[in-house]
Amino acid sequence: MVTRAGRGHHRRTQGSGGLLPHVWPAIRDVLLPRGCAGCDRPDEVLCPDCRALFGGCHERELQGCISGSAYAAAIYQGFARHAILDWKDHDDVELDGPFAEIVTDVLRRSNLPESLAATLKEDTARGPVLVVPAPSSRQSTRRRGRRHLMPLAMALADALCDMGIDAIPARVLASTAGGGRSVQQVSSAQRAQRIGGHIEAVSLPDMPLKGAVTVLVDDIITTGSTLRQCVAALRGAGAIPVGALALAHAVVRYGSEEEDDSYTPVPGTSRGSRMGSTSSTTPQMSGRTPSGVM
Ligand SMILES: [Zn+2]
Repeated sequence: MVTRAGRGHHRRTQGSGGLLPHVWPAIRDVLLPRGCAGCDRPDEVLCPDCRALFGGCHERELQGCISGSAYAAAIYQGFARHAILDWKDHDDVELDGPFAEIVTDVLRRSNLPESLAATLKEDTARGPVLVVPAPSSRQSTRRRGRRHLMPLAMALADALCDMGIDAIPARVLASTAGGGRSVQQVSSAQRAQRIGGHIEAVSLPDMPLKGAVTVLVDDIITTGSTLRQCVAALRGAGAIPVGALALAHAVVRYGSEEEDDSYTPVPGTSRGSRMGSTSSTTPQMSGRTPSGVM
């Protein structure tokens, strides 16, 4: 059965300035029932089986932030990878809802709410918590025609508010990189090199960064280089990064070109054995909540 998932050309038709651009989505939905963005199963945005792939809370080391960790919902492979690429590269906006739900689920499973609340009590810290999307290159943003991480940042801020932690989405990081091809087409090492050193903090008049407690959100963690750049940029502006959340992370193969990452999973080690676990929080983390800010 032909469905719409993963068929980027159907979506591009919408923006091509062709006939009846405003009614095309409705016509398309009748003519071409959509398929799951992961596995193409008919009539689903993200089927239960693919949704279940995002049910984890995988911890990655993220140095320089209060919790020391980033958390991802899934491993970046197979149908999970396919769904994310459909969302970010083929503009499947119907995934905004499921992915917002997924990333807020990871927030709840992680120790970040606890770390954020503790950090806000520090004398030098200020709320509301800023939920900061990792920046895309200007070229990627232009190609997508939208900032795809903003719906996730908004959902996270809402979820934190529901937990009694005042939070707002805050686009305070920008990429000065020229952009280029998607991660689908370049290796993560190339991507890290391209973005590396090209993320800067943007101080907005109504959103001063000094002392601002922040949590980062990204779609995919590959080498971790992007998030490390984000942490460095936030710290450089006087903000207090506490941790990060992502939809998925790439498991780094030992001996691969991505070995430069600060974390390489090795089976049998305590950290390696947590990989693939769908358990909730990591008890080891509770002792790492902030005792002093920066
Ligand atoms: Zn599916």
